[in-house]
Amino acid sequence: MKKTLQIGALTIGAGAPIRVESMLKTRLYETDSCLAQLRQLKDEGCELVRVAFPDLRLKDSLKTLNEYSPLPLMADIHFDPDIAVAAIEAGCPSIRINPGNMGSPERLTHVVELARERGVVIRIGANSGSVNNAQLDAAGGDRGAALALAVSEQMEMLLSRKFTNVIVSAKSTDIAETLRANVLLNKRYGDFPFHVGITESGSGMDGMIKSACGLSRLFAMGIGDTMRVSLSQDPVDEVRAAYSILRALDLRQRGGRLISCPTCGRRQLDVADVVPELRELVAQLPDGFTVAVMGCEVNGPREARHAQLGIAGSPAGLVVFREGEIVARVEKGASVVDALRPYLPKKS
Ligand code: SF4
Repeated sequence: MKKTLQIGALTIGAGAPIRVESMLKTRLYETDSCLAQLRQLKDEGCELVRVAFPDLRLKDSLKTLNEYSPLPLMADIHFDPDIAVAAIEAGCPSIRINPGNMGSPERLTHVVELARERGVVIRIGANSGSVNNAQLDAAGGDRGAALALAVSEQMEMLLSRKFTNVIVSAKSTDIAETLRANVLLNKRYGDFPFHVGITESGSGMDGMIKSACGLSRLFAMGIGDTMRVSLSQDPVDEVRAAYSILRALDLRQRGGRLISCPTCGRRQLDVADVVPELRELVAQLPDGFTVAVMGCEVNGPREARHAQLGIAGSPAGLVVFREGEIVARVEKGASVVDALRPYLPKKS
């Protein structure tokens, strides 16, 4: 049975929706910039934010972030158990470490005991870059299996200390490797929440599509409790992309949904011209409320019969329809948004 974990007020795992994460791209010593980015991420629906904590001297900055952050933080730590201890002392409700690079077994035990005492969640993370030659040899050269082995070794270090407040994560920039590793790990550790993503997936459309392809296959197998779309761009875009993927898969709704036809030679409305404005409007609607914009009324209302509200171009102007039935006709030149406005629901 899948575990439920608590990171501050955020529930992850059984009974919770797939959570959306991102990572601060500001530096920890730029406290004001970090807080501004955290507020932007919260406004977009981000629920957990990882923050790089590379230096003990930044402990006070991390403490300040924990005090004022509108979102729970996960400190990202490499190699130094003293930094992991400092992150917990600075109030982080979760940390991301590789238990294998926390120095001696005694030092790892100290980190684990402090995490247990403070109710801190530990995410163990491995990506394809963390796989060593011994793991690769043990897996017979199968990179996905080697990645799973790297994560299993970390996992056992925590479980042998009877620490179970753990999120499992195995990421590669290669989709097949990520899938293979997660399937293997899910067989063994499926009771634990999984953080999923395709790491270093690039930027722009290519990066988002690559992430969407990998994530949708993981979600189809029931793997994934928290997610990040890793993009080389503004973290706000990571959050927007994450919700776009969840919305497309009907796994989670945030704001309304926009259906738009691709248009063809029958079009009476240039849909591409009105989509940007409609997208802003629809984002403010109640979760899951669907609006369609169609290039013509010949097939529009029928093609968009699943939409609660829609608008289509017609020779005379615009046709507004609700649940597939025409409710208004508006003359040519009218604004699409103004034509829809009387029929829009209020966000509760
Ligand atoms: S709704 Fe009309 S314009 Fe849009 S694709 Fe269908 S037939 Fe073409």
